[in-house]
Amino acid sequence: NDDPLFSPVTIGTMELKNRIVMPAMHLNYCPTGEVTDQLIEFYRARARGGVGLIIVGGCGIDRVGNNMGMIQLDDDCYLPRLQQLVAAIHSEGAKTITQLYQAGRYASSRFTGNQPVAPSPLPSKLTQEIPHELTGEEIKEMIQSFAQAAARTQQAGFDGVEILAGTGYLISEFLSPLTNKRTDEYGGDLPNRMRFALEVVAAIRKAVGPDFPLLARIAGHDFVPGGHTNTEARLFAKALEEAGVDAINVTGGWHETLVPQITMNVPPAAFRYLARGIKEAVSVPVIASNRITSPQLARDILTSGDADLVGMARPLLADPFLPLKAQGFDPSPIRPCVGCNQGCLDHVFRGTPVACLVNAEAGRETEPNEKPASSPKKVLVVGAGPAGLEFARVASLRGHDVTVWEKSNQLGGQINLAGAPPDRRDFHRFTDYLIQVCEAQGVKICRGQEATAENLLAGIEKEGWTDIAIATGALPMDPPFPVMEDAVITQAWDVLAGKETGQNVVIIGGGSVGVETALYLANQGTLDAETLRFLIINQAESIGTLTKLLCQGNKRVTLVEMTKGVGRDLGSSTRWAMLADLKRYQVKVLTHTMVKAVGPDGIRVKSPEGESLIPADMVVSAIGSVANQKLLMDLRDKLPAQVTLYPIGDVIKPAKVLDAVQSAYDVARK
Ligand code: SF4
Repeated sequence: NDDPLFSPVTIGTMELKNRIVMPAMHLNYCPTGEVTDQLIEFYRARARGGVGLIIVGGCGIDRVGNNMGMIQLDDDCYLPRLQQLVAAIHSEGAKTITQLYQAGRYASSRFTGNQPVAPSPLPSKLTQEIPHELTGEEIKEMIQSFAQAAARTQQAGFDGVEILAGTGYLISEFLSPLTNKRTDEYGGDLPNRMRFALEVVAAIRKAVGPDFPLLARIAGHDFVPGGHTNTEARLFAKALEEAGVDAINVTGGWHETLVPQITMNVPPAAFRYLARGIKEAVSVPVIASNRITSPQLARDILTSGDADLVGMARPLLADPFLPLKAQGFDPSPIRPCVGCNQGCLDHVFRGTPVACLVNAEAGRETEPNEKPASSPKKVLVVGAGPAGLEFARVASLRGHDVTVWEKSNQLGGQINLAGAPPDRRDFHRFTDYLIQVCEAQGVKICRGQEATAENLLAGIEKEGWTDIAIATGALPMDPPFPVMEDAVITQAWDVLAGKETGQNVVIIGGGSVGVETALYLANQGTLDAETLRFLIINQAESIGTLTKLLCQGNKRVTLVEMTKGVGRDLGSSTRWAMLADLKRYQVKVLTHTMVKAVGPDGIRVKSPEGESLIPADMVVSAIGSVANQKLLMDLRDKLPAQVTLYPIGDVIKPAKVLDAVQSAYDVARK
């Protein structure tokens, strides 16, 4: 095979048909620890879609370091269902291994009911709990728990096993000088700190024999101050190889790192260099991971020699058939993961089952596929935001004759606003996908076509529409505070749509739209690459000034919020990175600040410090949105009896894109 992505590869004794790996992804589909039908069908779909290797997990090796909704490998009672999972994946032609997981001090007693354990009793940065320091005896027992879980993996029929030795979990806690303060043979210098991992590997080898493939997932760089860099990671990888590990799976840093790893603002494949570093140190295959967003990029990683395989977890959550599509066996476009984390990581952190913003079917593979409609209908969708387009996609897939009316000339609705700020542009990839699929399925999309009760009723008569989806979305809320006549105030939605603002802007409302608008504005006017190059070459500015210019832009932006924090409706996996960006761009954030009035020279506010005026040459309102139900109201009692109306998405109640898409999918399926 000439395509590097689809050339076979061997890991130990395991032959893979291609280079695409689905790394372990916590899905939260197994509430009792036992494999569920939901998990089996989820992975069966990915195997059917052509992935080479599925890594299932993390799988708890005990009850102290596991996590909510996680598969358990600490008892033989789990074997029958694990065997069914393996059979399902094998029947579709993929290989599968487990990932052995022990969270160490990242585990939470709130969930496990047990005090977490760690090499040293240092408070967890995630849970603030102080773990129990493992005694020498307990370390031996822990190593045996890993070995027993590996043996069960083999018994269940898996093709191999992976240890999770990165991300800040137990094995990496032994490895790092930050979390390992032991004075026995498991602490001190690097060889001692590696001892636990290497003994785990040796015990697993003893339990499963020399031929059972064994992988290790490591951090290519901890990205934690004082932690390991790629230099130590190479030494660790080399030691793992010498101990009998058959492949190294390289990821980014720990959970507590302040370096974004997989949020939308991380450039695609930004961490491929970490895999490259490891590859230079070992001769076993190396897997690169993190934000490998397309098959083209994956091929580039392989051909450039940065890695031997590519890990694509979220892209396969978004589109199980990515491999077949990339190989040309399925002509339909790949449904792109946009890096939003709304359905995957945010759900995991909330303790709910994983879903996907762009793939409403993810996690629902036990439900039957969209059935062809028994009697195809003529369907109109009003509004081409994500909900409207998803409705059109599913309805047309079922064989209905679908027309979409969109009042603007640009499709995508509020996705266009969410995708306006710097580093949030991947959102547009979803709209592009929906448009492409809808058009390929014969949906008639009418741009610049506003719907009124009158023209819609006339259309019903002329076109014979029997089913009408109303996806008119939401509208920005009117300010609830006094606005003087000569005040310069505009809506955040207009700014995100491209409206010019002044140099000194105050944004009212610190929700997600306010934060996005602040970042969008604060980023304007920073140096472009050409100017920067000119200034550097001509040494026209000092580095300090350049850094300031780069980070600040030429607008002064203030974000005013009446509660205690901003971005509180953003998902936890993304919020921290966006708040860090606010700081980096020097946006002034004022919390506990109530707006009293907006005037021509700025806004008058009340805060714990008293009343004051915040000067502004433009005020931007980002205080929220309301459902746009005008058309629904206008149509009330006017529709002919044969016509059914379906309100979908934000027109019911403003919600996250994920929820709007899911509700549109559900209605269209029915
Ligand atoms: Fe990608 Fe967002 Fe789907 Fe997660 S929810 S897989 S980040 S598109």
